[in-house]
Amino acid sequence: MESAHAGPDRLSVPDHSHIDNVVAVMSGKGGVGKSSVAALLASTLRKQGYSVGILDADITGPSIPRLFSLRGVPKSSPEGMLPPQTPSGIPIMSINLLLAHEDDPVIWRGPLIARAVQQFWSEVVWGNLDYLVIDLPPGTGDSPLTVLQSLPLDGIVIVSSPQEMALMVIKKAIRMARSLQVPIIGLVENMSGICCPHCGEIFPVFGDSRAASTCSEEGLRWLGNIPLDPVLASVSDQGRIEDYEVDFLEAIPDVLSDVKGGV
Ligand code: ADP
Repeated sequence: MESAHAGPDRLSVPDHSHIDNVVAVMSGKGGVGKSSVAALLASTLRKQGYSVGILDADITGPSIPRLFSLRGVPKSSPEGMLPPQTPSGIPIMSINLLLAHEDDPVIWRGPLIARAVQQFWSEVVWGNLDYLVIDLPPGTGDSPLTVLQSLPLDGIVIVSSPQEMALMVIKKAIRMARSLQVPIIGLVENMSGICCPHCGEIFPVFGDSRAASTCSEEGLRWLGNIPLDPVLASVSDQGRIEDYEVDFLEAIPDVLSDVKGGV
């Protein structure tokens, strides 16, 4: 099926796969929790009963397989590569699954990185997916630009931290997505205050959240805030990110259908 935002310069969905919605997760810079939000979004959608895959396009900093304790090697078939699946049934393709050792660095220049992402799109047998979640490379440089330009994305979730909001790094990401005419589903502020492990109260270490005001200035939907939470750090380190729940991510299918319908 053609995506709403397939265009002359964008790749179409390969014949061996049927992908209804392609959602990318983007950040203005690294380390703000982009991969965590991509993984949480995919696991939330899976728990809602959707078929979901994850394409890890963060080629030089791939962390998706580790968040799900996934170690399988993609198998080959006449149609293309078969991605390994998590126990809950999320197929994942990541460069980490192809490396001899998961801590081997990928020392590649832009064109090779772009080629790898395009192969993950075209040569992986994704099958029938309601959603493909793409963990973009961080920032607004050459690698995320290539992905935004070449894949038929239906929408982007932008992840930021409170400090990034203060530094306005996030506005570069918003403007980049808009200049490439990829619809923005909304903004998630991550690491927004710290969650006390004893009482659960959220303490605003970085001052009051600016997420809502930035969204209203930019005309964006504010999807919600995720606090710095030792439980999230711990389940991530143990490869059990599917055990963590972020309720507001359950609204993404409805928000995305509004975005696709032009609401
Ligand atoms: P990015 O993809 O933006 O580089 P990651 O998702 O890899 O960022 O997160 C960076 C680190 O911060 C990881 O170790 C992750 O487990 C941790 N982390 C992310 N968000 C949170 C949070 N809300 N609470 C606690 N730790 C977090």
